[in-house]
Amino acid sequence: MKEFDVIVVGGGHAGIEAALAPARMGKKVLLLTMLVEQIGAASCNPAIGGLAKGHLVKEIDALGGEMALATDHAGIQFRVLNENRGPAVRGSRAQIDMDRYRIYMRTVCLNTPNLTVAQEIVDEILVKNGKVVGVKTNLLNEYKTKALILTTGTFMRGIMHFGPVKLEGGRFHELPAKKISKSLEDLGFKLERLKTGTTARIDARTIDFSKMEIQPGDENPKPFSFRTDKKTFNPTQLPCYITYTNENTHDIIKSNFHRAPLFTGQIEGVGPRYCPSIEDKLNKFPDKERHHVFVEPQTLEATEYYLNGLSTSLPMDVQEDFIHSIPGLENAKIVRFGYAIEYDFIQPTNLKHSLETKEIEGLFFAGQINGTTGYEEAAAQGIMAGINAALKIDGKEPIIFRRDEAYIGVLIDDLVTKGTNEPYRMFTSRSEYRLLLREDNAILRLADYGYELGILDDKTYERVQKLREEINRGMKILNETFVTPNKQINAMLEEMGEEKIQSKMEIRKIAGRHTFNREKLLKLAPEFKDFSEDALEQILIDARYHHYIERQKAQIDKMKEMLSVKIPEDFEYKGIPGLSREIVEKLEKFRPPTLFAASEISGVTPAAIDIIHMYINMRK
Ligand code: FAD
Repeated sequence: MKEFDVIVVGGGHAGIEAALAPARMGKKVLLLTMLVEQIGAASCNPAIGGLAKGHLVKEIDALGGEMALATDHAGIQFRVLNENRGPAVRGSRAQIDMDRYRIYMRTVCLNTPNLTVAQEIVDEILVKNGKVVGVKTNLLNEYKTKALILTTGTFMRGIMHFGPVKLEGGRFHELPAKKISKSLEDLGFKLERLKTGTTARIDARTIDFSKMEIQPGDENPKPFSFRTDKKTFNPTQLPCYITYTNENTHDIIKSNFHRAPLFTGQIEGVGPRYCPSIEDKLNKFPDKERHHVFVEPQTLEATEYYLNGLSTSLPMDVQEDFIHSIPGLENAKIVRFGYAIEYDFIQPTNLKHSLETKEIEGLFFAGQINGTTGYEEAAAQGIMAGINAALKIDGKEPIIFRRDEAYIGVLIDDLVTKGTNEPYRMFTSRSEYRLLLREDNAILRLADYGYELGILDDKTYERVQKLREEINRGMKILNETFVTPNKQINAMLEEMGEEKIQSKMEIRKIAGRHTFNREKLLKLAPEFKDFSEDALEQILIDARYHHYIERQKAQIDKMKEMLSVKIPEDFEYKGIPGLSREIVEKLEKFRPPTLFAASEISGVTPAAIDIIHMYINMRK
């Protein structure tokens, strides 16, 4: 029997990062996947990033993951969303050529030392004495392993719905993974069902773009990865287009509600709240006059377009009718019909923060199998499962990001403590510390981990260290250089359109004005002229949000202090108002020694921790 340190099941967005990380950490890894061609396939929209998702991609990049590099390689339109809003809520997004993205990822996987790729379907998980020992595949091969990571995506007992037509499969015309569901059930896991859907793809030759609004990419596209050279980055920027549904579209869809699998009872799984199908949108918001449709190229050749906003599982004739009612799509020819898919997932409350299952040692889950939706959410879990599987083999503690350290920490903490009943996606509003967890500082927050783990390369880390030195130097200038009001300074400020100063003040105060920018800073303080763009960005953000950032840091320190509070051994949880029976039972069962240990128990909420803290203080 062939033996590996780590086996990863599934070559989707989670599986790729889950396989690359331990391989780069020197572990012998096997990636088993259904179709090698489909490694890194984008099942739904041809885009990476977006609000909060861009944060995840940049954090994966800072750890040494691949998603950002692949996006820079395959991107065909780069935009920063919310560019005019605060840095905490900006989100990078790129349309990708989904073929190039896939080929890039496949090439990386097949060229990574220590990583073996094999096209086989895993049917059975082999467990001995509560510990994972290997897998058995559809070719009856058995592979031995110390750690196993399941990233099966939408494939476990996948059923697709095209109107009344039901097909088994994990993605359009790809096989479902059936036996592995049974194997998980035999091991005691309870599988639940979720649903997601996708839209029709249109032959570009049949679209009348003149009837649509054009949506160009940014004038100065910025790469996703810190490792991509900004100076040479010059991707082809293809436009997207915007059109709208109308009354006629809505009438066609509404008059066919009785044929919609979503409403006939044919679909049982819960769908994504934030990415609903068009029939769901019309049902929930019947009075809305029109809905956006973003028409997005799927590849650089732009032969097929994706209709973002029109996900559906309505019958094929209805799909044709309602698409033809939309301006610019009157003569649209559908290359692939939209469909919904139902699949098995496992409540992530079965997992520890390391993404290892609580019940079976060495077994990890990552990606859509944990109830999430989205490539970025999947990849973020994938890299963490990969890292923690490798650390476990070495007998080391797992890496668990706190909520104030990374969006990845927020994602995993939400999943394993709260579970989910609908596909979970990331939002900036899920983070309590948005101002600290920005896209622009992901590399500064997480590069140390990536480097120490051996995933992030030396050259990149040297650049990060240099950037840190520059920022520190810049902060010193900001805090220690004073500007005295005189004719010359005030004339300069006036020329910049800035208010004059009346008294002596640190440059920080002037640089922190909302109207201030890089050009003005360089004029006011020529000391900054040799600073890199990245360093100046951090310096200006710090100047502008200094007080808020410091306040969030103080909150975190207070929270850390609180979590270190010891819980007396004889502490009585019963009878405390505000603690649910479930929480009391868990706390009595586990008897956590500190508030931090209590907060780690699944289902114990931050509000419950606050209450216990108050009662501990009352006993003093
Ligand atoms: P996947 O990308 O699904 O990859 C799973 C991989 O595992 C595949 O390569 C598969 O071949 C392999 N595999 C599975 N079982 C086995 C086995 N037993 N043995 C070997 N290999 C196996 N996301 C959104 O954010 N918004 C959307 O609107 C959206 N719509 C979607 C619509 C459809 C129809 C589908 C199919 C997906 C949609 N998604 C959407 C989800 C998105 O595709 C996933 O979030 C993302 O791909 C999850 O990544 P993953 O790595 O967990 O799984």
